[in-house]
Amino acid sequence: MAPAGGAWPPIAAALLAFALIALATRLAPRPMLIADRFWPGTGWLEAGLIAVYAGFVMRAMRTPEGARKTRPRIWRLFTVVFFGQLLLGLLGFERFLMSGQLHLPVPALIVAGPIYRGGGYFMVALFLSTIVLVGPAWCSHLCYIGAWDDTASRARKTPQPLPKWRPKARLAILIAVVAAALALRVGGASPATAAWVGAGFGLIGVGIMLTASRRTGAMAHCTTWCPVGLAANILGKLNPFRLRIGEGCTECRVCTRACRYEALTLDDIRRRMPGLSCTLCGDCLASCRHRQLHYRFPGLSPDAARTLFLVLVVGLHAAFLALARI
Ligand code: SF4
Ligand code: SF4
Repeated sequence: MAPAGGAWPPIAAALLAFALIALATRLAPRPMLIADRFWPGTGWLEAGLIAVYAGFVMRAMRTPEGARKTRPRIWRLFTVVFFGQLLLGLLGFERFLMSGQLHLPVPALIVAGPIYRGGGYFMVALFLSTIVLVGPAWCSHLCYIGAWDDTASRARKTPQPLPKWRPKARLAILIAVVAAALALRVGGASPATAAWVGAGFGLIGVGIMLTASRRTGAMAHCTTWCPVGLAANILGKLNPFRLRIGEGCTECRVCTRACRYEALTLDDIRRRMPGLSCTLCGDCLASCRHRQLHYRFPGLSPDAARTLFLVLVVGLHAAFLALARI
């Protein structure tokens, strides 16, 4: 698949990253950029550098092969910066923390936290705004924990099938997380108790990465354990971006071995669309010799749809890199 759009996609990704950072710094009650925190007034320089970075990332991801190599690297970079800042904050360098008020970095708490607290919707709003822009791509480009599962799964080159009960289990886990948050609230559990429950859930998730994801090569944590994964998959259907399989597909199943989200079973391929767990990661595109896997967006060619998706997701990634911290 040839890259589309000439020179404009890197420029568009850079402008989007800059605009998102400018918007966040204008709306936030405290300096959001590290440069502004250490040297007030220099945040624009950091925003400019991040915008240039977004342009280079977009360029690197223009071809499906380039995206397949670049996506895990930039995702890992984000999580290293995110948790590196948390570590520095815990060591006493408070300017690396968002506000000084610590939160558990467990994605399940995006769902469970507001139910338990009856408020605190910032992360829900942030998550939903990414759904509006890029559908379920939170789970392949933006989540601070998803990159851990991606790294763990890459211990095995080719993903193996997960158990058949996986879809039912992830629905049961989502329901259980909502019920547990409600029970903690109704039962009057203290914030410390709720934090221990949340931390325990997160630690089990890490255990799943280190065992099931490493052993199978599939993202067992993100496609089974994490309730935000299922929420992103379901709510992501409200967004018009889709992945589709062309009628020229030979059903060779080479793409099945490229998908770590278990979204390309033989049934999915026969239906000519990926399963619910697809996160629009794009890894499968480079695997198909017949070029039968495409992004879709109403009114756009497959190539333009992919370019638009990448501009949006790269702009978001770069803004997250500059702004996201605990
Ligand atoms: S690799 Fe291409 S041709 Fe083979 S099953 Fe997947 S989409 Fe079809
Ligand atoms: S079907 Fe393709 S785009 Fe969707 S999760 Fe699997 S590899 Fe990624």
